[in-house]
Amino acid sequence: MPTYQYVCNDCGQPLEVVQKFSDDALTICPACEGQLRKVFSAVGIVFKGSGFYRTDNRSSSSTGTSTTTPAKPAESTPAPAAAATPAPAAASS
Ligand SMILES: [Zn+2]
Repeated sequence: MPTYQYVCNDCGQPLEVVQKFSDDALTICPACEGQLRKVFSAVGIVFKGSGFYRTDNRSSSSTGTSTTTPAKPAESTPAPAAAATPAPAAASS
């Protein structure tokens, strides 16, 4: 029988449950009765199904993509004061 891994969304409690394929997935944390999400080991967390939202700011990811406005560096204003001064004509003898 396969072992399913869950993580509680509320308290972060990991949970391993041996279930049959025909068994329903667990959804309630036995520690805090929060919402469990299924974890597939070595594959990563698959957010499959509906109703699983992380409590961090995943919901605003569609609007905050272009917030990086690169500041223009102030290196484009050269001031070569020494090169602009003409050489003194000291050839008046
Ligand atoms: Zn919990």
